[in-house]
Amino acid sequence: MKSSRLFSTRNGQALLCVFRNFSISTSRHREKHYKLVVVGGGAGGCGVAAKFTGKLGTGNVAIIEPSLYHYYQPLWTLVGGGIYGMNKSMRPMDSVIPKDVDWIRARATAFDPDDSTVMCSNGELIKYDYMVVAMGIQVDLHKIKGLLEALETDPAVTTNYASAYVAKSFPAIKDIRGGNVLFTYPTTPVKCPGAAQKIMYLTEDYLRKSHRRNGVNVQYNTALGVIFGVPRYAESLLKIVEKRNIDVDYKMNLEEIHSDRKEAVFRKLDSDTGETKTVKYSFLHVTPPMSAPDVIKQSPLSDKSGFLDVDKYTLQHSRYQNIFGIGDCTNLPTSKTAAGVASQSGVLRRNMTAVMEGNHVAQKEYTGYTSCPLVTGYGKCIMAEFGYDGIPMETFPLDQSKERLSMYHMKKDVLPEIYWKFLVKGYWEGPGTYRKFMRLGMGHVTKPSEARV
Ligand SMILES: Cc1cc2nc3c(=O)[nH]c(=O)nc-3n(C[C@H](O)[C@H](O)[C@H](O)COP(=O)(O)OP(=O)(O)OC[C@H]3O[C@@H](n4cnc5c(N)ncnc54)[C@H](O)[C@@H]3O)c2cc1C
Repeated sequence: MKSSRLFSTRNGQALLCVFRNFSISTSRHREKHYKLVVVGGGAGGCGVAAKFTGKLGTGNVAIIEPSLYHYYQPLWTLVGGGIYGMNKSMRPMDSVIPKDVDWIRARATAFDPDDSTVMCSNGELIKYDYMVVAMGIQVDLHKIKGLLEALETDPAVTTNYASAYVAKSFPAIKDIRGGNVLFTYPTTPVKCPGAAQKIMYLTEDYLRKSHRRNGVNVQYNTALGVIFGVPRYAESLLKIVEKRNIDVDYKMNLEEIHSDRKEAVFRKLDSDTGETKTVKYSFLHVTPPMSAPDVIKQSPLSDKSGFLDVDKYTLQHSRYQNIFGIGDCTNLPTSKTAAGVASQSGVLRRNMTAVMEGNHVAQKEYTGYTSCPLVTGYGKCIMAEFGYDGIPMETFPLDQSKERLSMYHMKKDVLPEIYWKFLVKGYWEGPGTYRKFMRLGMGHVTKPSEARV
């Protein structure tokens, strides 16, 4: 019998809470016990750990996180566009993880929710009373043939979606001298879907400003049938691509890259015969396919899609009441963004506290709020904000579907400050309160009960 099972009763759990950071060595692995374990120390994980360490006390909360650096990924669009250096988007992980939280520097390798344990790559078995899964989304670079090789060897192929390659983007943009400049969007869910085209608008603007736009064919190849999922913002984007002579090709899925010949091969998704189209490129920005982290897919925690199966309003796991989820690794039917994470963190705080105190979970309902600052050039941004079913939830008392300099500064200067100073420290739970105040209760706002339809 495993030593942790000796304490698996309700009383035993209470006893374990007395022994903070309980640790036993066995012949197979070391075991530890925490009141709360957070898996993933990204945007969602750090904020949640910070909120709960105050309530639960030093040593009762642990974060399992393998990376030495924490990244503010929304800045990668601006790094790719040459506005900031990569360093500005990253901080050492130990400077971001709250000081009273134990950092387990390892990957979670297996979940056993029936035993309330997580196995880690360093050989430790972590037992928990409550767990928050915040592992982000997996970027599947290997699923496009030739992409990894092209990213490593071809200076003209890049992606803002992986930390190792973001810094390649701006030098590649500066090298464009003509030809087909391609941007792609895959068939899978991705984080910040808008980022696939934000870098395109920056590139096009850069070419225009440096008098090199003539002779360049800028093309957006998307596997979707629309330019953006929310009609209010799609309408604005369609006007922009038309005005700026950007080609949009729908239902085109990038399948293969031949970097030796500078060719990209797309599958035409609306062709009955499985037709492909090969396009020569002089520059290629890839938005790779993404999926749930393998360790979630392979566990009882996932739904059919592989993502963490949570209730879309309460964020509690659909089958395990002591597990909650936040952010990109969940099956929440809304766009995966840090803005969404902020809003979810307030819901999770209220609902998990209620469960810990033995109350009903639905103290607060998530509206699906998410936001995508659609940078459309140097000094221009459409601030898309919406909830479930694409219902706009705009914060400011102005038409946010229009390009604005003020929203560009919000994205470039204000949101990074909010992220580092408030979100990862557990203080920022989204703009809900400000929205009510600024719009005086009017405007494009949906209530959870309306979103249920
Ligand atoms: C190019 C780009 C532009 C973006 N632009 C915006 C934007 O403008 N606005 C916006 O709001 N959002 C934007 N985002 C999206 C935003 O960054 C993510 O939605 C947000 O970071 C999600 O937070 P998370 O905590 O779910 O995941 P992450 O922040 O990705 O954190 C996940 C953490 O889990 C860790 N992890 C992974 N596997 C394991 C494991 N096995 N065990 C333990 N830990 C593990 C990872 O190391 C990581 O630290 C953008 C993202 C990209 C890539």
